[in-house]
Amino acid sequence: MGSDLKSGVARPMLQAIPTIGESGVSETSDWKQKYRDTVLEMEAEQKRWQQIEKVLRRLINRLCAAGMGVNETLDTELAEVAAANRRSAEVDELETLVSTLTTAVTAVDQVAPILPRSANGGRWESACAATGLLLDRLAQSETDIDTKAGALRVELTKARTDAELAAILGHAADLVQARNAMAEGERQQAATVLSAVNLRLEELLEYFDSSADASRAGHEDTAQLDARLMTQVRELSDGSNQATDLASLQALVTQGLESVGQSVREFREREERRLLEQNAQAEEMRRRVASLEGETRALNEKLAAERDRARIDPLTNICNRKAFDERLAQEIARRAITQGPVSLLVWDIDDFKTINDTYGHRAGDRVLQTVAKYLAQGIQSTDFVARIGGEEFTMVLIGPALEAAQQIADELRETIASLRLHFRGTPVHVTISCGITPLLDHDTPGRAFERADAALYKAKNGGKNSCFAG
Ligand code: GH3
Ligand code: MG
Ligand code: MG
Repeated sequence: MGSDLKSGVARPMLQAIPTIGESGVSETSDWKQKYRDTVLEMEAEQKRWQQIEKVLRRLINRLCAAGMGVNETLDTELAEVAAANRRSAEVDELETLVSTLTTAVTAVDQVAPILPRSANGGRWESACAATGLLLDRLAQSETDIDTKAGALRVELTKARTDAELAAILGHAADLVQARNAMAEGERQQAATVLSAVNLRLEELLEYFDSSADASRAGHEDTAQLDARLMTQVRELSDGSNQATDLASLQALVTQGLESVGQSVREFREREERRLLEQNAQAEEMRRRVASLEGETRALNEKLAAERDRARIDPLTNICNRKAFDERLAQEIARRAITQGPVSLLVWDIDDFKTINDTYGHRAGDRVLQTVAKYLAQGIQSTDFVARIGGEEFTMVLIGPALEAAQQIADELRETIASLRLHFRGTPVHVTISCGITPLLDHDTPGRAFERADAALYKAKNGGKNSCFAG
């Protein structure tokens, strides 16, 4: 097959049929037949090889196209193989290309890990950043998922090959599944508490009904007692009018008083029983309501903690984009009433990609944490700072007029530029740029952000490590 591939041209057939021997006609025709058969066989064989060659050449082209895009060296080699294939290159040339291609392919497996990450046009960085973002989101649960996501984040900083990144993504997918299961558990827990609330409310209603019944029964009993007492007193009074001597009067009065006493005693006993029952019911109700209060308080605290966590960036521990969106909308609404000066600042770390490429993702993360810390330290408690993504931060300064806000921003910028940061003993110089804009009448969050972002763009264009108001 090698020689077929080499030329791409039909292999030369038998040039001439050799001279026939002396041994007679039948021997001669046998030879002729044999040669004819051999020629036909060889022609059929040649056709088969030509078809195989055609298919193989198409296969080479397809494989070259499929292998493109892994790295620049391999792309060059594959392009050469494809070109050689198209011009039906000689076998020697193809063999040389096969050996350089083998070297390039081996390099993909072994050398790619230590190639500069920017060599693949930033795709590696983007994949790492996206995975990092996913892990950040997962690390917001205050459970062992948080710890596992943190551990994966550390692994991500060490990952050097596609296989390692794929393994991390596989684990991240498991964590997403676990997070979903946990969310479902929390939802069910909330549903259980709510149904318990419903049940307790129904019991409470029942209790009020029965207590109203009891007090109605109490009223009826009192009315009955009143009526009985009046009858007994009337009987006593009538009897005493008719009594003729002191002894019979005395007996009548004693008997009358006894039956009155009996009625009052019975009434009091019933009342006491009723009271005891009501007290027991009220006590039971108080107990149930107290336990319900405890449950709902715990649930509310949990929900509040969830709400807070959803607004915190786990890497830097300052507010995130969601919190920023809410706060900016609030400040715009508040400013419409107070008319006091409010400035919106958008910060972006300069050449952060170079920091990542030079010192690694882990160092990049440490820079993000440090910048966040200094930005947060440099503002008042009534101001606001958030990391809204990647190496971008936003700030809302309430009170200072634009010029003063610009001065605050410049001081923060200088503080960060003068930090003596080190990563594994190597100094890392970090600068940051800022776009500032005042909130205006009838502003929308989108318009205010666009102005601040345009100002940031000018600060970057002006040479970075600067603040620009616009
Ligand atoms: P410029 O001075 O113009 O702002 O350039 P830059 O390099 O700072 O900006 P660019 O947008 O090119 O690069 C931002 C980089 O930030 C790319 C991305 O990989 C990286 N990044 C985004 N999120 C994270 C993260 O959470 N951790 C780390 N270490 N890097 C991140
Ligand atoms: Mg940026
Ligand atoms: Mg940047």
